[in-house]
Amino acid sequence: MVKVARVEVESIAAALGIQPGTELLTVNGRAISDFLDWEFLTADEELVVEARQPDGESVIYELERLDGEPLGLTLQPPPVRRCANRCEFCFIEGLPPGLRKNLYIRDDDYRLSFAYGNFATLSNVKDRDIDRILEYRLSPLYVSVHATNHEARKVLLNNARVPDIKYQMSRLAEGGIQFHCQMVVVPGLNDGEILEESLRDLWEMGESVLSAAVVPVGLTQFSHLYTGKGMDRETAGVVLAQVEWWGKRGLTERGETWVFASDELYMLAGRELPDPAHYGEFAQIENGVGAVTSLRMRVAEGLKRVARRDGEKIGVVTGLAMAPVMRPLLESLSAASGAHFELVVAENSLFGPTITTAGLLVGKDILAALKDRLDLGLALIPAETINEDSLFLDDLPLSTVREALPMPIFPSYDFIDVLAQEPSGVAA
Ligand code: SF4
Repeated sequence: MVKVARVEVESIAAALGIQPGTELLTVNGRAISDFLDWEFLTADEELVVEARQPDGESVIYELERLDGEPLGLTLQPPPVRRCANRCEFCFIEGLPPGLRKNLYIRDDDYRLSFAYGNFATLSNVKDRDIDRILEYRLSPLYVSVHATNHEARKVLLNNARVPDIKYQMSRLAEGGIQFHCQMVVVPGLNDGEILEESLRDLWEMGESVLSAAVVPVGLTQFSHLYTGKGMDRETAGVVLAQVEWWGKRGLTERGETWVFASDELYMLAGRELPDPAHYGEFAQIENGVGAVTSLRMRVAEGLKRVARRDGEKIGVVTGLAMAPVMRPLLESLSAASGAHFELVVAENSLFGPTITTAGLLVGKDILAALKDRLDLGLALIPAETINEDSLFLDDLPLSTVREALPMPIFPSYDFIDVLAQEPSGVAA
């Protein structure tokens, strides 16, 4: 059963009298267990839908619709499948206490992997789920592989009952499912030979593996489960060399670099980031692969649109990790706008000093970094620090932070999004 959350006016659903709260039970005789069933079973043009209205009355809707015509209803979000693993490096286990509840949800859900690109380990995927993935052709899936070696993976996921990922991926691949993979590398557990084996196994899956990202383990001061080593510069260099070897092999033999190191791995290894051509379609940008290169591209392309702000002093808040990358970008913005840009490096008070990512700064950090800066005409903060409700991770609303600061502040993804507007047209 799935429940209706919203019905659009003047839609098929509204014309039928479907209301928010209506439970949808079957489509053409097949039971609906979640949004995937609804999505796929309603692809037909003629539908018989058994439902229960909010007052408990049973009803049958019979409808016909033209190919692709939307029904005009939104379902309530599904309860997510929870993760059965207990990875030592789990970022959620490394969250400080006291944050809003939904941040602690450890989802591991192949349905969300298909629908939204969330990475899933497939640890809780049974044979019947595999049948369903194949039937509905849920492709591509985003898979947290970490290691293809079964014993190593059990240790990494801290789960003795984890299924064999090679078996799962082969079955799915035989049915035409493709994958974007990620491997979080934990020094001593899945680097070296284990990483080599994983890269070889994924390579041998051929075109079923669309991309793979190799990401260094990220720890906070609250990562209480972790007993291993952090990723140092030397290890990062070795991992990077392995990834690059397999990437080059892909480029030579198959015409594309299929495996990528994350930006963080390059930075940890002290290496310059690759050019845009390396990343192709930037398939794993959400995973921090090519994000810096993409930012550089967007700034370079947007400079001609930047409005003049001669003499204005603009603060740009970032975390320590991005500071070296930002400096040349700010110089070019300065030349294009006539403004003086100052990098304001903020420390992460919530996660501790090991977390230097700009997007994880919290409202309190922004306040601390800017509250005494009476000299700044305006400040840009990383847009990734706030959610769709304009809340920082520490639950401070953007409006509260704005009211407390002496200058206007603007969340920005790439500077151009704010600076292309005329100074008077920048809306707070
Ligand atoms: S798979 Fe591991 S890292 Fe992901 S949510 Fe579960 S325990 Fe955390």
